[in-house]
Amino acid sequence: MAVPGEGDVDTEVMFVGEGPGLNEDREGRPFVGRAGGLLERLLGHVGWSRDDVFITNVVKCRPPANRDPEPDEIAACAPYLRRQLEALDPSVVVTLGRFSMATFMPGVRISQAHGTTRIADPSTGAGDATVFAMYHPAYALRNAAVERESFDDMGLVPQVLVEARDRRRIRRETVATARPGATDEPTPVPPADQAADTDQLSLF
Ligand code: URA
Repeated sequence: MAVPGEGDVDTEVMFVGEGPGLNEDREGRPFVGRAGGLLERLLGHVGWSRDDVFITNVVKCRPPANRDPEPDEIAACAPYLRRQLEALDPSVVVTLGRFSMATFMPGVRISQAHGTTRIADPSTGAGDATVFAMYHPAYALRNAAVERESFDDMGLVPQVLVEARDRRRIRRETVATARPGATDEPTPVPPADQAADTDQLSLF
């Protein structure tokens, strides 16, 4: 069945995966299989749960035999994802895996881009968002080093949210035109010792 996505529609953080697998297809819910278990552990690492965020996918129906989504399938589902992004207007979009990343950070390699941010292109539907790339949890489950890196990456997300909130506030306070610095260059996330204290960061 179709898997549109689920979570808190008032959230500031949206996670976008690739597409439903077998379990998701059966239940009509995203990330309910083993990859979903890891995603929940990753969220727990920063004190969040899946109910605090919104979770969806680039394609809304399961590609047969878990193959990669085809370009025409991604294109067919793109208006739905775009409309979800417009409706939820997240401050942060976390991409899970290559296919989601390619939607928001075209032309980059996940081995280099994971753990970094870009400003979302408003044509994606995310009108005022910071995009943060992560490996796909299913890939992390097959590679212990990638799993460790994924926990490190998730540890940066609260700080990314703090900065995204600031950017949105400044943007809204500033008269229209693009700010210098709002480029599509990779933006490294500051190391934890230089970052704001996010221990108590709540999504509410
Ligand atoms: N993998 C995905 O990309 N999305 C899901 O919903 C489940 C597994």
